[in-house]
Parts: sequence; C-alpha cells; structure tokens
Amino acid sequence: MLGGNVLVLNRLWQAVHITTARGAVCLLYAGRAKALDGDYATYDWDAWVIRPNGSSDDSESYVQGVSGRFVVPRVVQLLQFGGVPRSRVKFTRANIYLRDRYRCQYCGHHGKKSELNIDHLVPRSRGGGSTWENVVVACIPCNRRKANRLPEEIGMFPQRRPARPRWHPALTPTGEAPPHPQWQPFLETTYWPSGSEREGAR
Ligand SMILES: [Zn+2]
Repeated sequence: MLGGNVLVLNRLWQAVHITTARGAVCLLYAGRAKALDGDYATYDWDAWVIRPNGSSDDSESYVQGVSGRFVVPRVVQLLQFGGVPRSRVKFTRANIYLRDRYRCQYCGHHGKKSELNIDHLVPRSRGGGSTWENVVVACIPCNRRKANRLPEEIGMFPQRRPARPRWHPALTPTGEAPPHPQWQPFLETTYWPSGSEREGAR
C-alpha cells in the first residue's frame, strides 16, 4: 500500500515537510533522496530495496516492486538542500483548523470543516482581534450559543488556551494519526518557538 505519511528532511536533518509514501518512493527512486531506517542509517534506492526487511516493526508498510517487496521508508533525506523550515506559522483559517485538530474547543466535538466555525473569544464586534490568541475552532451550535458574548459572560471557555502553534502545521500529520515514532528526533530539533517565546527572546 502507498498510503501513509513520510517525513522529509533537508541536508541539515531538519524536517521540512511531509509527503506521501508514493512521493517518498519517487524521490528515492529518482536519486533525489535517501531513505532512513529505524537506526537512522541512510540508504539510496539500490541499497534500500535489497536491505533485509525482516523487521519486527509491523507498522511499516510494504510495496511490491519488480524485484520483490520492500518497506516504505518513514523518513527520507533530500540530497539537494531542500529548503528550510518556515519559522512562522501563517495565520490562516486552514492552520487554525489544524492547530485545533478539527475539534470544537468548547464541547470537544470533532467534525468536518463544514461542521465547524472559527470563534473569536473576544468577539470582533467588541474589539477582539483575529490573532492566534483570540480564535478557536467551535462547532456551529457552540459558536451560535456564544454569539457576541465574552467567555466569562456565558461561562464558555476553550479547553486549551489558544496560542500560536509550536509546530509548523505542515508537519502535523493529517487526521488523528500521531507522528511515526521514527519522526520524533527530527520533530524535536525543529521545535518552533511560539509567538511569546519569540517575542521574549528579542
Ligand atoms: Zn461545540
């Protein structure tokens, strides 16, 4: 199967984005990336496909190639520079949904984009801004119920205090799947400072 997500590193071992298994296999096959195994050793295509794959990690997915089946890598490293992680998360509707993981921050309802809205803690009509700290994802009933009141006026407080995401949303796997364990060392080295930490550092 060619589903699943693969973490892409640049030459400095920084996570730059996530691709599909198909995308990663293409990069590897084209000689544009190396695959990493569970011990973070790197392999080019020829070495990867002949690598013994009697791994105990049954979460790995396999692809059938002409010369037999091989494991889809979970992490690949680009041979060309491959860009740098973006240092600031863009404030967009899509990124707000990603930050809140498509979950209403008042009642916890997990829904599709069409079932959710963006709620301003301090309503815009009362001077609230469109900032990471003032918006949360809310389901339509919660959004209607809160209307143009302050959280303390109606007793509706978000489950988590909204803030600028610490992770770049491009590195957030889509859906509810947690990052593959093999991604962890790279995610930690690309831990983006939140807005307040960044401002505090100046
Ligand atoms: Zn709700």
